[in-house]
Amino acid sequence: MDARNIEAFLLTNPPNIFYLSGFSGSSAYLCITEKTAHLYTDFRYLQQAAEEAPSFEIIKVGSSENFDEMIAFLLKSGIKNIAVEESNLTLSSYNRLKAAAQGIELIPQSRFVEEIRAIKEESEVEKIAAAAGIADQAFQQLLPLVKPGMREDDIALELEYRLRKAGSQKNPFDIIVASGPRSALPHGLASSRIIEEGELITIDFGAVFSGYSSDMTRTFIIGEPSKKQREIYNMVLEAQELALSNLQIGKACAEIDKLARDHFQKYGYASYFGHGLGHGVGLEVHELPTLSPKGNMILEEGMVFTVEPGLYMRGWGGVRIEDLVVLRNSGPEILTSAPKELSI
Ligand code: ZN
Ligand code: ZN
Repeated sequence: MDARNIEAFLLTNPPNIFYLSGFSGSSAYLCITEKTAHLYTDFRYLQQAAEEAPSFEIIKVGSSENFDEMIAFLLKSGIKNIAVEESNLTLSSYNRLKAAAQGIELIPQSRFVEEIRAIKEESEVEKIAAAAGIADQAFQQLLPLVKPGMREDDIALELEYRLRKAGSQKNPFDIIVASGPRSALPHGLASSRIIEEGELITIDFGAVFSGYSSDMTRTFIIGEPSKKQREIYNMVLEAQELALSNLQIGKACAEIDKLARDHFQKYGYASYFGHGLGHGVGLEVHELPTLSPKGNMILEEGMVFTVEPGLYMRGWGGVRIEDLVVLRNSGPEILTSAPKELSI
């Protein structure tokens, strides 16, 4: 904050609030200055906040859109500016804040806490690895149950049950089960479509453990794949292996993305790879770093992110293979270990 000439910092984004204070409720904001750390919340969360955020002074407010007390404190303390999270603060909150601010300058900030969160502490890696382990276990239990004639919804339900049984707190995102031509939808949520033998089935899902998420995708076929299905699958798998084997501290995120993209380009398939190669995973399922052509961060030790190349052809189908890695000094450690056989 000193380096950015910020005297006070208002935090309104829940994952950042949890990261800095430990408070996991849905309605609160933090105000941090050089000397003070305040957590403002309403009656419903007073006890929880005191238990979860012991290093913060808990202050009761009528609602988390009411900043009057905070502003009064800042004015009394002689504070001249306050940083706000520009990609999170709603327009109505901003207007209230601006009306109350009485000469205190509002300084928009983006990615401040998010960039710190991109580098995980070992205790965070352990939680993400535990979530990935739960997802692996549930997937292993699911595979023998998948049969032709099931709906995509049936598969999602079986998987969700096993994830929860294995210790996942909730789904970090709605489970994707996309079969046949629907597998060309990168984010095709499970539908009532009935699965048949010989069709591509893409399943993208994760678990949550102690607030931390995992993320993994597998694509497979019940029965024997066609020649084209196998070719496309192998092309995606090779792109993933190429990216994984080149992960190294100090390399640019965009450079890793380009390796996978160039691999598809070599076969004339680059236009079917329409999304980034990967994204950070932690308290949120999509966070920094971003591995894409525009990903401007440099890989650092302790980053946890996905490597998920995919090819999607409208009317035919698609393949995505996604693993989660933590970058170590010695290279990537892969946290997801479910098998990658095309045929089940
Ligand atoms: Zn995913
Ligand atoms: Zn992902």
